[in-house]
Amino acid sequence: MQAQDDFMSVNDLKDNDVALIGILSDANSSYKRGAAEAPAFIRRALHSGSSNLCSETGVDLAGNHRFVDVGDRQVKDDPDSFLAIENEISQLTAKGALPLVLGGDHAISYPVLRAIHGAHGPVNVLHFDAHPDLYDDYEGNPWSHASPFARIMEDGLASRLVQVGVRTMNQHLRSQAERFGVEIHEMRNLDTSVIGHDFEGPVYISCDIDALDPAYAPAVSHLEPGGLSVREILSIVQRLPNRIVGADIVEYNPGRDINDMTAMVAAKLLKEIAGRMLLNET
Ligand code: MN
Ligand code: MN
Repeated sequence: MQAQDDFMSVNDLKDNDVALIGILSDANSSYKRGAAEAPAFIRRALHSGSSNLCSETGVDLAGNHRFVDVGDRQVKDDPDSFLAIENEISQLTAKGALPLVLGGDHAISYPVLRAIHGAHGPVNVLHFDAHPDLYDDYEGNPWSHASPFARIMEDGLASRLVQVGVRTMNQHLRSQAERFGVEIHEMRNLDTSVIGHDFEGPVYISCDIDALDPAYAPAVSHLEPGGLSVREILSIVQRLPNRIVGADIVEYNPGRDINDMTAMVAAKLLKEIAGRMLLNET
């Protein structure tokens, strides 16, 4: 995997920098490809000039030397791809940086969390998604984007897994959730005010764009009506008291977008999550 020339080098990273990195992989998508194209579209929305780069919490990413974009990594469609992703993220954490990863499909969260675990041990995982992504395997693929959190829990990478926005549970998924002790805040009885107050230790945020209602974010492969608002996710993220050691924003599928509206949502989430990470108590 090669870094592009117009981004910063991993060698320039320092302790507690937020390192933005794109992982161009959608090989484990079960339904539609396209998420591998997302990082360039999200960056373009972020820097488009239609908004500024200041988070609502007052952290300006513009010219911020602690917000470091190390570019994208092309991932081969082969069995070693997860090792390559884990290695790329481990290079960031080895510098003390906090990875902010743009997918790609959700399968990438498993190797990303392997690297996070290598640096920090088991972390709390706050996971926004329409789907619990807990399939033992999906259509014969244990590495499917429908399965990363089964692998994450089997490997003991998460001290707690708290899922928000889920609205696709079936019997298999319920039994998997029970088996792994997953705490699920389903959409049908959601109370966002109770989420995020009781984590002990560092938190990793995994944000599948399809957690949002398709009214806010239509450019996803699996449209699931009845979802979260942008504001609900931002509110939960902004009031997390814990140190955030990494995050991902996955499953944006730019080929399905309307007037870049989903790209702007992904860029907004990026801006607020990065802003929150830069406010970490260190
Ligand atoms: Mn997902
Ligand atoms: Mn999903």
